[in-house]
Amino acid sequence: MQYICVYCASSTKINSVYFDAARKLGEIIANKGMQLVYGGGSMGLMGTIADSVLAAGGKVTGVIPHFMCEQEWGHHGLTELIKTDTMHERKEKMAFMSDAAVALPGGCGTMEELLEVITWKQLGIFTKPIIIVNTLGYYDSLIEMLHRAVEENFMRDIHRNIWTVVARPEDVIQAIYDSPKWDKSVRKFAAI
Ligand code: AMP
Repeated sequence: MQYICVYCASSTKINSVYFDAARKLGEIIANKGMQLVYGGGSMGLMGTIADSVLAAGGKVTGVIPHFMCEQEWGHHGLTELIKTDTMHERKEKMAFMSDAAVALPGGCGTMEELLEVITWKQLGIFTKPIIIVNTLGYYDSLIEMLHRAVEENFMRDIHRNIWTVVARPEDVIQAIYDSPKWDKSVRKFAAI
């Protein structure tokens, strides 16, 4: 377990509790000797978690499309910055170079990234742990929607094992280790 991919908000205008959670997760990743993989931005929770890992002596890989660098959205102090041509290439690289994916609160960008890895895991292309950090219950309605999808047979019951919800950043690493094993044989359950 070395590379932890974190999806999170680019917004700067959110409750300080979300920033505290991002800062804490950054400290934990660095203190465990793990490396953060994220979208390479300097703003919002993205900038906060990167700064927190670096301040605690950890390493950070940012993966960002060229067009965002041209907008000056990229973080300039990272251990490594990988530039991609497209958003799709960025998301693919972030997920496949990582040993786990974690979603902190965020907007459509974060939710899209989270739902994409959930979909890939359902198809058996991505098989790593996926952890949702439900700070202030931010993801309650998304989680309810996922359970509704299962209850209404849009997904199978086994698909609830794809993700794990935790309340606090302090619970993320244990949740990664406790995550149900998954491999590409689950593909046979993809169709319902
Ligand atoms: P959101 O959760 O909507 O804030 O989206 C976070 C994701 O949006 C990131 O992974 C990026 O794809 C993208 N994004 C939006 N604004 C920025 C920004 N200012 N800097 C870097 N990434 C951004």
